[in-house]
Amino acid sequence: MDMNCRLCIVVPCYNEEDALPVTGPKFVEHLRKMVAEGHVDKDSKVVFVNDGSKDATWGVIKKLHDENKEVVGLNLAHNRGHQNALMAGLMYAKDHGDVAISIDADLQQDINAMSLFIDEYKKGCDVVFGVRNSRDTDSFFKRTTAGAFYKFSKWLGCDLYENSADYRLMSSKALEALSEYEEVNLFLRGIIPTLGFKTSVVYFDVSPRMQGESKYSLRMMIKLALDGITSFSIKPIRLVFLMGVAAIFIAVVMLIHILIDYINNNVVQGWPSILASIWILGGNILLSIGIVGEETIWKQRNDQGIL
Ligand code: UDP
Ligand code: MG
Repeated sequence: MDMNCRLCIVVPCYNEEDALPVTGPKFVEHLRKMVAEGHVDKDSKVVFVNDGSKDATWGVIKKLHDENKEVVGLNLAHNRGHQNALMAGLMYAKDHGDVAISIDADLQQDINAMSLFIDEYKKGCDVVFGVRNSRDTDSFFKRTTAGAFYKFSKWLGCDLYENSADYRLMSSKALEALSEYEEVNLFLRGIIPTLGFKTSVVYFDVSPRMQGESKYSLRMMIKLALDGITSFSIKPIRLVFLMGVAAIFIAVVMLIHILIDYINNNVVQGWPSILASIWILGGNILLSIGIVGEETIWKQRNDQGIL
């Protein structure tokens, strides 16, 4: 083989005791097939990250490890969420392999696309995004909310690949850059395009989840979407700033109104002072938040060298 290609398949797992006994061996089998076909080196691994599961997931991972030399298990002490579990696995992969491919434990994503990812890597790409062909298998609710989210983030100026799940390849070079990123509210599919590596796209099919239920509750989906929007767009903060400007404008109009009423001897006792203070104070508070937010964002971007 012309270049080193130790692959780590990174699989975050949260309460997957139903899916993992079925999908786990499939990951191993597929890795062996890729080794046999010469796509990847023989010391490639499947890295299962237990995201503080409350069921027997860790036991399943230990069993998979005992039975297959390719399997590595990472055990997080608490449930830290999909993105953090993924990050833990990727950081392991950075030190133990040349490329990492992240994929969900339920194998909804077509595992056969992996060799296409590897082909792109061998052509010199450091990041390869998996983009799903269609959302037919998702519920109507998930399809419409996801669609709206991608449209909204595009409007906000966040550069996402539409329908790109967290099924993607990263070289250890790209992982090294990712490891230097100090973002608390991780939204990997937003961060990775900003790293600035040569990227490419592979299309894949999605099938329905066979075992267990979706581990993404509505609450988690909302948190992920909010993290995505607030970490990658300045627009919400601009909106606050503009609201402050508008409130101060209203305050000025209010003051003129009060003055005219006062001259005409037309004022109700107490009304002018209460109204004026509400709008002046409110406007100042919103403006200040806007300024502080703006400064924080610019400082952050400056630190990360995005500017
Ligand atoms: N997951 C995780 N931590 C969580 C929630 C989910 O590691 O807190 C994992 C889960 O085990 C799966 C992946 O994230 O491997 C995607 O979850 P799921 O398939 O339930 O999401 P969906 O396909 O419904 O978007
Ligand atoms: Mg799934």
